[in-house]
Amino acid sequence: MAQEYDLVILGGGTGGYVAAIRASKLGLKTAVVEKRELGGTCLHRGCIPSKALLRSAEVFRQTKEAGQFGITTSKPELDFLKVQERKQSIIDTLHKGVQGLMKKGKIDVYEGFGRILGPSIFSPTAGTISVEMNNGEENEMLIPKNVLIATGSKPKTLPGLEIDGEYIMTSDEALQMDTLPSSIIIVGGGVIGIEWASMLADFGVKVTVLEYLPHILPTEDESISREMMKQMKKKGVSIVTGAKVLPDSTRKEDGISIDAEVDGETRTYKSDRMLVSVGRAANVENIGLENTDIVVENGVIQTNAFYQTKESHMYAIGDVIGGMQLAHVASHEGITAVEHMADGDPHPVDPEQVPTCIYSSPEAASVGLTESQAKEQGYEVKVGTFPFQAVGKALVFGESDGFVKIIADKATDDLLGVHMIGPHVTDMISEAGLAKVLDATPWEIAGSIHPHPTLSEAIGEAAMAVDGNQIHG
Ligand code: FAD
Repeated sequence: MAQEYDLVILGGGTGGYVAAIRASKLGLKTAVVEKRELGGTCLHRGCIPSKALLRSAEVFRQTKEAGQFGITTSKPELDFLKVQERKQSIIDTLHKGVQGLMKKGKIDVYEGFGRILGPSIFSPTAGTISVEMNNGEENEMLIPKNVLIATGSKPKTLPGLEIDGEYIMTSDEALQMDTLPSSIIIVGGGVIGIEWASMLADFGVKVTVLEYLPHILPTEDESISREMMKQMKKKGVSIVTGAKVLPDSTRKEDGISIDAEVDGETRTYKSDRMLVSVGRAANVENIGLENTDIVVENGVIQTNAFYQTKESHMYAIGDVIGGMQLAHVASHEGITAVEHMADGDPHPVDPEQVPTCIYSSPEAASVGLTESQAKEQGYEVKVGTFPFQAVGKALVFGESDGFVKIIADKATDDLLGVHMIGPHVTDMISEAGLAKVLDATPWEIAGSIHPHPTLSEAIGEAAMAVDGNQIHG
């Protein structure tokens, strides 16, 4: 028999499950349909497993460098199976947590593949959802007042670089490796590519990054991408920018080799394995969009600022709508969508207030406009930069590379962007995020007292440096 709901959510990833919790708190009778595991990409194939591996790589490197702290150790050995076990146990703990939250919120979870059948006499506005159950039982029919599409994304690859499970991987396969290769080519120097480059180099793998554009991390402020390039080279990562890989040249024999056009000549690169990290494709196929008026453009579902599709009772959020494909964006979009369908008055998510983080070593984080974006938008900017080398706590940590850069509008003093590279900046960026939300000026950021000795002093000093008032530089 068909079940009726106020809201049915397709996809139990970070966007979907968070939206479900908010909906249940707002009193909506809610169901989540999930074909794999609650927690989605972020928990099982993204944020959490990659950060768990990055942490092990960091500990491995730091143990090798323990001599600088006056600690003598024998040569550390890497037990990669244990590294993977630790990663899995973190995932399992968090997965149980999400399952518990669904129970606590009295949210029904259907384990299966959901498809929109389109409006019917039972559900003239939001359409019926059919769920092909994973356990082989007869399809469930769900009749919702509202639908939230949160089906996420999957890794893209390049034609000719098909994933073979042996030599060519995406991050999905790389996260499951049970042994490390001795060398790897990473095609794509975006966030995921650089996190993997940093991690594998810290584990002792010889890494070559081939990036098509003139800079790695092309969406970051240029100063951050230049500094990251310098730091990656320092740890032995070979980075080739302006490299157009030629997939047809791929040869697999005792490793993999590929040609790339660089500076007008063809060069050959060889390694044990290859990781392709060239972006993510939205999961829009086979979910029944053809039974609706929902518009898909450039491979992603189109919505308004409250995440309503062309069918006003069907919303879409997270990676499936493109934009900033980040977990915290997906969850905030989910909350906004649910509050909107419950007749609330939510604020749409403003991309300029969204912090983005890169968990390589060193870390990088930013919020707001880059310097070149600000100039393109016609701002006359003033910039304050402060290096971690002048911050006592960074020297205490033994990690003093990098800086904080603050960009403000010369005419109004408005904060336009904050960019950081260095130790623990992914934990420090929230201060800048709050400053953006509260529309603070650099003067107000500097007026908030930064305790000594902390890494956050770099933010206070960079804020003062915007008007040339820094103390320690
Ligand atoms: P997803 O998490 O992809 O969830 C979608 C869910 O829908 C999946 O569980 C899928 O099984 C399910 N589904 C799809 N179709 C159907 C269907 N028809 N029926 C039922 N279920 C269906 N973001 C960050 O913010 N920080 C990070 O550090 C970070 N690191 C990352 C590292 C890697 C290697 C990767 C790949 C991604 C990373 N991301 C990170 C991005 C982040 O994982 C995504 O932005 C986030 O998971 C998007 O959430 P979502 O809910 O939109 O989609």
